[in-house]
Amino acid sequence: MYPNWILQRAYLTPNRIGLTFEGESWSFEQLKQISVTRAYQLTSLGIEEGSRVAIMGQNHPRLIFMILACMHLKCEMVLLNRKLSKEELDYQIKDAKVSVVIVDEEDEHLLPQKVNKLPFLKVEESHETPIEISEQWTLDQTTSIMYTSGTTGYPKGVRQTVGNHKESAVSSVLNIGLSEEDVWLCAVPIFHISGFSILIRSLLYGNEVKLYRKFDTEGTISDISTGRITHISVVAVMLERILHGLEEKGLEASPKFKLALAGGGPIPKNYLLRAQKVKLSVSQTYGMTETSSQTATLSNEDALRKLGSSGKPLFFNQIKIADTNEPFVEGEILIRGPHVTPGYIGQFEHKNSTVDGWLHTGDIGYIDDEGYLYVVDRRTDLIISGGENIYPAEIEGVLMAHPAVKEAGVCGIEDTTWGQVPIAFIVLNESVRKEELLDYCIGHLAKYKVPKEVYFVEQLPRNGSNKLMRRKLKELIH
Ligand code: ATP
Ligand code: MG
Repeated sequence: MYPNWILQRAYLTPNRIGLTFEGESWSFEQLKQISVTRAYQLTSLGIEEGSRVAIMGQNHPRLIFMILACMHLKCEMVLLNRKLSKEELDYQIKDAKVSVVIVDEEDEHLLPQKVNKLPFLKVEESHETPIEISEQWTLDQTTSIMYTSGTTGYPKGVRQTVGNHKESAVSSVLNIGLSEEDVWLCAVPIFHISGFSILIRSLLYGNEVKLYRKFDTEGTISDISTGRITHISVVAVMLERILHGLEEKGLEASPKFKLALAGGGPIPKNYLLRAQKVKLSVSQTYGMTETSSQTATLSNEDALRKLGSSGKPLFFNQIKIADTNEPFVEGEILIRGPHVTPGYIGQFEHKNSTVDGWLHTGDIGYIDDEGYLYVVDRRTDLIISGGENIYPAEIEGVLMAHPAVKEAGVCGIEDTTWGQVPIAFIVLNESVRKEELLDYCIGHLAKYKVPKEVYFVEQLPRNGSNKLMRRKLKELIH
């Protein structure tokens, strides 16, 4: 048994600030009081302890209060991604069989019409039915359910238990360290594990979260260069904008700032080099919905020595490459540890999340002779050309280092001679000739990896997590 984290945190450090948002702050005691009130209100509206509900809303304290209230009620919370289409949301709502979607009024129009909606405002104005808030939680209780991004196929609903979140937060602090003054800027969505895990860590560590409605380059740059924040979680696109802004303004990260945790996908190597120049510490991290955030993280000291690596596993985790113990041999990345989900829900309920205790990630990688993990690419996107393995991520990385290229996506197409060959889709920053890009590739890649064709396009197919869906690239050819 574990104490209810919200009650425990308010008991231990009631007056410490837990949350700030657009100039307003809330102490942990206030967070407790508001969330308990919301739990009473949800109860009076028929939400029962342990039931499965969905929640949808933009990053806002109201969303946080609602999430904490559901945690008091030990609900299985399905966190819906508000960037999805109605059709995608409909799929998740049906797949998860939720009774109701608790939704920010401003987001109601994003939901399919037929869905049973409970607007935040209705909860906030409701009567209260005081119930006994559970003081005890168990490790195997499901706190949240998040759908994977659906980059490689249908999104899968992943259970994230109290135990998974606890282990993830503890492993993270054992790696990154903690001081009372730490303030984590949350400009990533709370409905993703990257954002949700910031909230969980704040409850466990007693640290402040500075919440942004959405990522705002100017605000972030000022927070990093002159503000109080010490940590931020970013994905590659955000990091690039931060770097660009700092460079343009001739600014550096303040000495107070400790770390930008960069994950969600590969971080181009040249970003890491640029970060060094503006004194921005960046740790590349590897994780997924199934591991309740980080599994491996590279310390900033190693960022350049092990350029492109995702580092070593966090303390309680283990990582190995399928079918090999040899360094530098590529294979599927397997993960074991108490942060790994016990399983999926809905149509993937019967799919085992682990085999002999190991999560099969579908990612290809290798471990070097010093034990550092390198994530190479997704197994499903591998291109085999004349018997050689080609990873699109490597080619995209080269293309994106060219100043004229804003975004790049690479996939394979059938070829009578080679079986498959790589082709590239490019969104440009500035005009450039195809030949110049190909020459640039020849200078940086083995010949068989150089794209056989380059298509200039307006935009690349991305999912609700802004991840490139390579399986849809071919549809761009007319
Ligand atoms: P789906 O499982 O539905 O196809 P998804 O795997 O994109 O979607 P997420 O759980 O959001 O869903 O993303 C996790 C994946 O993101 C990892 O399996 C990996 O492919 C990629 N990823 C995360 N961190 C890194 C990293 N540091 N380097 C390379 N890839 C990464
Ligand atoms: Mg996945």
